[in-house]
This record gives sequence, structure tokens and C-alpha cells, in this order.
Amino acid sequence: MDCIFCKIAKKEIPSKIVYEDDKCLAFEDINPQAPVHILVIPKKHIATTLDLGEEDKEVIGHLVVIAAQIAKEKQIADSGYRLVINTNRDAGQTVFHVHLHLLGGRVMSWPPG
Ligand code: AMP
Ligand code: ZN
Repeated sequence: MDCIFCKIAKKEIPSKIVYEDDKCLAFEDINPQAPVHILVIPKKHIATTLDLGEEDKEVIGHLVVIAAQIAKEKQIADSGYRLVINTNRDAGQTVFHVHLHLLGGRVMSWPPG
């Protein structure tokens, strides 16, 4: 399968990994939109949030827990951070392997653009 995030998970493409376990991988976004911009992905290929099944509930919850842990390590927990999952065209999804954006280190506007 020609999925860039599967290749990153298999270490076929280099990335700046900040966390890894048997279920997920976290790495720095190549085009950061904030001082801290990390992507947390399941190792399992899931194209969009629309493709999540009952069996994926645990891993999706796990991504959020790991993102919070990384936010603490990166010292952006108290100031605050944003977790984003884009789905399909209008949200601007460009990589079709589910990923959680962890963004922080600056004030973010609301509503998002
Ligand atoms: P999205 O628009 O939600 O699909 O986000 C895809 C994200 O993946 C963007 O923020 C890109 O900058 C990021 N990205 C694409 N290719 C790579 C890569 N090889 N390594 C790290 N981040 C990447
Ligand atoms: Zn994939």
C-alpha cells in the first residue's frame, strides 16, 4: 500500500520520532504550524475517522492519552494545546492515514480557519 504514514511507521521513510509503542507512533510534523506540532498515528492503517470500527476505539483513545503525555514532556500542557483530526476535503485532510495533530506553544485562534 502506498501510504506515507505506513512507511514512516515501518521506518521506510525517516521521521523525527518523539514516542513509539506497539500501537502508535508520534513524530514531528514536517511543516510545523506551531512551535510544537507533532503527529500521533496508529500503526494500523486506517484511512479516515469514517473508517474507524468498534475495534479501533481503544487505539484512538490511546492516541489522545499519548498526546497528553507528550504535551507534558514538551512543557505545553499548562499553557494549553490543541488536538486536531482532519477528515476529508473540507477539513483539509491530505494524508489518508488517521493522525492526531498535537499543536501548542502559541496562542491559537478560535474558530479555526
Ligand atoms: P492533514 O492535512 O491533516 O492530512 O495533515 C497531514 C500532515 O502531515 C501535514 O501537517 C503535513 O505537514 C504532514 N506531513 C506530510 N508528510 C510528512 C512527513 N513525511 N513527515 C512528517 N509530516 C508530514
Ligand atoms: Zn497508512
